[in-house]
Amino acid sequence: MKKNIVLLPGDGIGEEVTASAQRVLDAVAHQFNHTFTYQTEAIGGAAIDEFGTPLPEATEKACHASDAVLLGAVGGPKWDENPSHLRPEKGLLGIRKSLGLFANLRPVQGFAELLHASPLKHEVVNDSDLLIVRELTGGLYFGTPSERRDDGASVVDTLAYERSEIERIVRKGFEAASVRRKHLTSVDKANVLESSKVWREVVNEIAPEYPDVTVEHMLVDAAAMKLITAPTDFDVIVTENMFGDILSDEASVLTGSLGMLPSASLREDGFGLYEPVHGSAPDIAGQGLANPFATILSAAMMLRYSFAMQKEAETIEKAVDSVLKQGYHTGDLNVKNGQKVGTKEITDYVIEMIEDHS
Ligand code: ATP
Ligand code: MG
Repeated sequence: MKKNIVLLPGDGIGEEVTASAQRVLDAVAHQFNHTFTYQTEAIGGAAIDEFGTPLPEATEKACHASDAVLLGAVGGPKWDENPSHLRPEKGLLGIRKSLGLFANLRPVQGFAELLHASPLKHEVVNDSDLLIVRELTGGLYFGTPSERRDDGASVVDTLAYERSEIERIVRKGFEAASVRRKHLTSVDKANVLESSKVWREVVNEIAPEYPDVTVEHMLVDAAAMKLITAPTDFDVIVTENMFGDILSDEASVLTGSLGMLPSASLREDGFGLYEPVHGSAPDIAGQGLANPFATILSAAMMLRYSFAMQKEAETIEKAVDSVLKQGYHTGDLNVKNGQKVGTKEITDYVIEMIEDHS
C-alpha cells in the first residue's frame, strides 16, 4: 500500500522521537512491501519562531491532504510568556479541531519490566491491556451555556450531545473492541444524568451491529474504582469527554511509565492524528536521551486504526516488547539490571527486531 504521512515534530524532544518513529515505519514498510512517503511541517513553538503562528496554513493543508499525521510534542519554557494566540498548544488544539478529530484513543498496557514502577501491586496490574475511547469534541467541556450568572452568585455548565455525536463515538468503541479482545465497557452516570440515559440507549441500539463484541454498562464511579482494583477486567472503555479525560489520566499511571503511552485522535472515516501522551520534555531535548517508544507505539496505532495494517502494527509492538525484555531502555525507564541506551540506539534495536520478525 502507498501512504502519505505528515510528520509534525513540534518542539523539544518531538523532533527526536518522530525521527525514530519514521525510521521504524520505514523498516515496517520495507518488510511488508508498503511505500510510505513523508512530508514534514511546522507546528507549535517551532512554527511560531519560523512563521509567527502555532498553526501555519501550509501545515493545515498538508494534514488535510495526507493519509495520517504523526505528531511529536509542542510547547516549552521559551514560549511560556507568549500571549494566548501565540501559545504552542494552540497549534495542537487548532489542528485537532480543523481535522474534526472527535475520538481520542489511549491504550494502557503493562510491560512486565516496568511494573515495579507502578503504584499498584504487580499481581493487579500485570497483563493489563486496555484502551480508553474518549469523546473529544462535545459533552461537558463544550456545552453552552457555560457561564457565571448574577456576578457569580450562580454558575452553569452544560452537558449536551447530539444523538449522532454519541453514535459515532460509540461506533469507534465497538470498532476498536472488534480488533482487540471484543469486550466493550460503556461508562456513564445513567442513574443521574439524562445524557447518560441516552448514551446507554445508543450503545444498546448499536450493539447488534457488532454481534461478536460483548457489551457491559458501568457507572463512572464504579469504573474509576475498578481501574485500580481490577484493571485486567477491561478491554475497551468508551465514554463521554470529561469522564474519559479523568479515567485516561487515572489509567495512565497504572503502568508506571509516561514514556510508553501512545495515543490516537480519529475522525469518522478512520483518518487520524497520532502522538505520544508525554510532552516536549525540554529538560532533555536535543541530547539524544528521549524515550521514543510512545511515539513508535503511536505509529503502530496509525497502522492499525488508519491503514488497517494489523500485522504490521503487531510487528512494531512485539519489537518494542522484545527490546524491553532484553533489558535495553532509555534513562526515564526504571528497568532493573538493564542496559541504558540513547534514542538512536534503542531505535536501532527495535528496527533489528522488526527485520528479524518477518
Ligand atoms: P506538557 O505540558 O507538554 O504535557 P509536561 O510538563 O507535562 O509537558 P512532559 O514533557 O510530558 O511534561 O514530561 C515531564 C518529564 O518527564 C520531562 O521533563 C522528562 O524529564 C520526562 N519525560 C517525558 N517524556 C519523556 C520521554 N519520551 N523520554 C524521556 N523522558 C521523558
Ligand atoms: Mg503534561
